[in-house]
Amino acid sequence: MHLVRTVLDAVVIGGGPAGSFFAWELAKRGVDVSVFEEHSAVGVPSHCAGHLSIRSLRSLGLYPLPEGIVENVFSGANFYSPQGTKFSVHLAQPVTCAVNRALFDRYLSEKAEAAGARYFLNSRVQSLMNENGFVKGVNVIQGDKAEEKVSAKVVLDAEGISSRMLRQAGLPTLKREGLVYAVEAEVENVKNVEEHAVEVYVGNEYSPGFYGWLIPRPYGTAKVGLATRNGNPKEFLQRLMRRHPVASTQLANAKITRMAFHAITLGGPVTKAYSNGFLAVGDCASQVKPTTGGGVIFSITCAKIAAEVASEAVKRNDLSAEFLRLYQKRFEETLGFDTRVMLKIREFLNALSDEKMDKALRFAARTGLSGALRDVDEIDFQGRTLLTVLKKPATYAALAYFAALYLFANA
Ligand SMILES: Cc1cc2nc3c(=O)[nH]c(=O)nc-3n(C[C@H](O)[C@H](O)[C@H](O)COP(=O)(O)OP(=O)(O)OC[C@H]3O[C@@H](n4cnc5c(N)ncnc54)[C@H](O)[C@@H]3O)c2cc1C
Repeated sequence: MHLVRTVLDAVVIGGGPAGSFFAWELAKRGVDVSVFEEHSAVGVPSHCAGHLSIRSLRSLGLYPLPEGIVENVFSGANFYSPQGTKFSVHLAQPVTCAVNRALFDRYLSEKAEAAGARYFLNSRVQSLMNENGFVKGVNVIQGDKAEEKVSAKVVLDAEGISSRMLRQAGLPTLKREGLVYAVEAEVENVKNVEEHAVEVYVGNEYSPGFYGWLIPRPYGTAKVGLATRNGNPKEFLQRLMRRHPVASTQLANAKITRMAFHAITLGGPVTKAYSNGFLAVGDCASQVKPTTGGGVIFSITCAKIAAEVASEAVKRNDLSAEFLRLYQKRFEETLGFDTRVMLKIREFLNALSDEKMDKALRFAARTGLSGALRDVDEIDFQGRTLLTVLKKPATYAALAYFAALYLFANA
């Protein structure tokens, strides 16, 4: 079967949240769009905790979600130092939810299909078709068939954490030093956790350069994971489950039912995510929060902007980099300030020793910081959140204290 015979308006590489939301938005605008997904089904295998902000989902028109996709909602978080010091935040209402990522991704793809997008599964994009400095389509292998050329006016790279297509398009690639390596496990028989609070384990002993998490699900099950900038994430997970003063009690009898490994990009968005006939969205463009590694909301937010620009470009028949540059400008206006603040916070956290981290959590617990954060409902655009909570004396005091810890980080 020939995949496509004529020149398509748009081709999408990858049926993850970035690719499907882009396809949905484009199809709604009447643009002919085809998505190539290398796996035999959308959403699998999943590697993601699916912890998302309710407010952001709502503002993207995605909340409430159909039944079954949301596994739990959260109004609290407990942070633990490697020594077991606890700092809790309990908010006035649920601000986050955990989604089943396979079902969430499938939902987005079904919406895109219903709007007119076409999906080709088992279809791996091998390379870009480059002609005279323009991306003119992709070379695809479907199943065990021979490679086919698929011409398109615009190609959207939404392949996840990889720089393969960026390199072929002549664009800057993901920063290696911004990568951490994660493990995500599903577990049964979890004890001593609050139903509607996520557990966060900070410090270098268990997750150098990142943190560990436990996201409770119904019936004593949970998603547990961590990431590390060096070493083997599976060994760090075993250490967390066996030796962490709190996690080891919560997970003493836990059974791991599934495990996945994947990298997370924390280096901030790439400096150029467009070229002639080409746009990059989502993890491949590093549109991920440098603090938490959350990338779903930023991917979808940027996919929407990419679709607005791409549909306009197709309409004008101007797929030049000069026009597509508008995408970079708009997404930087949307994410730029917050990602810069989050990069600084990540730098600050990475510089703290475990002893300083313990002191910081003790200080936060003593000063009533938890009360100052009670009304927070914005967790994605953290620069803006910081500006809001800084008006409260407890936050101000905590920030001054944390700044001192940072300045004397190596003392
Ligand atoms: C352990 C872990 C936990 C995480 N937890 C969270 C969280 O709680 N909340 C959050 O917001 N984010 C989280 N993230 C990040 C989140 O998973 C990503 O930011 C998000 O999935 C990015 O979406 P995407 O569409 O860019 O890429 P992906 O979701 O990776 O989708 C890319 C798709 O492209 C397909 N593909 C790749 N190459 C090709 C090709 N050549 N041809 C055809 N198809 C191709 C893949 O099969 C895949 O379906 C987590 C990440 C990890 C590793």
